[in-house]
Amino acid sequence: MTLHDKPESSLFRWDALNRARQIALGVVILVPVMMVVLLVCALVVPPSPGAAGAPHVWAPLAFLMPPTATPFPTATPTLTPLRIGLVAGHSGRYNDPGAVCADGLTEAQVNRDIAERVASLLQIRGYTVDLLEEFDPRLTNYQALLLLSIHADSCEYINEEASGFKVARVLDSKVPEAEDRLVHCLIDRYARRTGLRFHANSITPDMTSYHGFYEIASSTPGAIIETGFLYLDREILTQQPDLIAQGIVEGIICFLLGGP
Ligand SMILES: [Zn+2]
Repeated sequence: MTLHDKPESSLFRWDALNRARQIALGVVILVPVMMVVLLVCALVVPPSPGAAGAPHVWAPLAFLMPPTATPFPTATPTLTPLRIGLVAGHSGRYNDPGAVCADGLTEAQVNRDIAERVASLLQIRGYTVDLLEEFDPRLTNYQALLLLSIHADSCEYINEEASGFKVARVLDSKVPEAEDRLVHCLIDRYARRTGLRFHANSITPDMTSYHGFYEIASSTPGAIIETGFLYLDREILTQQPDLIAQGIVEGIICFLLGGP
C-alpha cells in the first residue's frame, strides 16, 4: 500500500463525484441550448390561430395548452321581435275619458281594463306587447305586427239597436290587404266569442280617420275596435272582461296565422 493508493470506498466516492459533475455540466449546456431552439422555433413558426376567444399560443408551446373544443354554430338571434301594439283608448294624461256613464264609469276605465287583459293573454303566448296611451309618443312611426286601438261606445240610451261592436281600419290604407284581413279576423272571432253582433251601420269617420293610423309606420297594419255600447252592453263589458279580451286575442291570432 503506497501513499497514492486509495482505499476502495474512496475510489467509489471519487467516481460518484465525477459522474455528478458530468450530469451538472450536461444540464448547464442542455438548458440554454433548448431555450435557444424554442426561441428560434417561436420566431420562425407563426402563432396558431386558436379558437375564438381562446388565447393565442406559440405553436411550439401549443402542446402545453388543453385542447379547445370547436364551438357549435349558434342560431342568429332574431332582430324582429313578435311585437304587438295596443292602445287603451282615452288613457293618458289628457282630459277626455271618452264616454261617461251616469254613475261615473268612464270609457277610459273600461278600455284600460280590457287592454290590460288582452296584453296579458298575448304575453302568455310569447308576444311582446306595448300597452300605449291614446296620444303615446311611441305611436310615431310605430313598427309592429299590428296596432289595435281599443275603445267602447256611448253610455247614453239611444235605442234598442245601440248594441254590438264595430271594427274599422283607416280609409286610405297603405296595406289594405293586411288591414282587411285584420278587420275580418277581429269581426269574425270577436262575434263568435262574445255573442255580440257586428254593428256595421254606425262606423264613423272618427274610426276610419283615427289619429293613430296616421302616426304609425304605414307598413304596420292598424285597426280600431269599439268593443260594445256602454249602455246596453255594459254588463258583458264590465262583468265579463275576460271574455271580451279573449275575443280580441282570438281575432289577433287569426290575423297573425294568416286568416281568416
Ligand atoms: Zn273612444
